[in-house]
Amino acid sequence: MIVQLKKSPDEKQLQALLDWLKSMSLDVHISKGTNYTVLGLIGDTSAIDMELIQVLDIVESVKRIQEPFKSCNRKFHPDNTVILLGDKPLGGGEFQIIAGPCSVETEAQILEVAAAVKAAGAAALRGGAFKPRSSPYSFQGLREEGIRLLLQAKKASGLPVVTEIMDISQLPLFDEVDVIQVGARNMQNFELLKALGKVKKPILLKRGLSSTAEEFLMSAEYIMANGNEEVILCERGIRTFETQTRNTLDLSIVPVLKKLSHLPVIIDPSHATGYAELVPSMSLAAAAAGADGLIVEVHNNPSCALCDGIQSLNPETFARLAPQVKQVSALVRQGGLL
Ligand code: PEP
Ligand code: MN
Repeated sequence: MIVQLKKSPDEKQLQALLDWLKSMSLDVHISKGTNYTVLGLIGDTSAIDMELIQVLDIVESVKRIQEPFKSCNRKFHPDNTVILLGDKPLGGGEFQIIAGPCSVETEAQILEVAAAVKAAGAAALRGGAFKPRSSPYSFQGLREEGIRLLLQAKKASGLPVVTEIMDISQLPLFDEVDVIQVGARNMQNFELLKALGKVKKPILLKRGLSSTAEEFLMSAEYIMANGNEEVILCERGIRTFETQTRNTLDLSIVPVLKKLSHLPVIIDPSHATGYAELVPSMSLAAAAAGADGLIVEVHNNPSCALCDGIQSLNPETFARLAPQVKQVSALVRQGGLL
């Protein structure tokens, strides 16, 4: 249920309403915009008499929310959520690019890529240390050593870092990681999502391989319901019958998610397409569709990469692409249609 308050509500009456709602065992999420205050009620609202609230002086309107997702629902929080990548805002009209190799491989590799993507305007460095691979015989990532090298690249470049967690037991290693990624295969690892709800840093949540928008948002809800409101939604392609691309990039989910939720939405064109030659077009299309950012795989020597080299851009192509994508994003935002 949401209660929209009139402009500048009387503080005493508001407190009395909040106390009463809390006495009904409801959690109240308060969202203050410039022109409104919205109270989002979470819990069993079936016993609440809407008319009783509606007649209060400070109340503009009361509505029941049909969707099962509450905290991430735009009706609960009409303004776009903005999440900081270091000191760079992502969302709410600010477009940012996260870039780096699929996996951290060596000190020289991650330092070189970090310097290159920073020079090209990336806001954060990605690099996998714990890798979810389809085959147990494939490179599994450098694990603790990978995190150590990534943090070394953070220090050298000044870029905040994004890396994937696969299991709750790895969390102590993520203390100095800026953004924790939950991979597509873990989107419904509910125990992991609950644990990340207790963490005070942004979570980059990837859409599961065959998840609906509602399932995706319910996974974000798991993190938010446990206390962490900083969730970045990432579309990375879904499974379809098509075999020419690794996955099928579902760009239409950008406006769908932005309508349903206030969370920032980014696109991963690398895993979505599986081929470096398809990454520029889909990156530009993502910006045109109103995405808030990208996460792109960039490798200093793609043909020798230990993981996902075929879909990794070289630093030169990334340096040409990044400013074009930002221009497209700025253009569609100025256009005012999205
Ligand atoms: C990755 O980002 O390296 C990755 C494994 O992504 P996904 O979970 O989308 O497959
Ligand atoms: Mn990868």
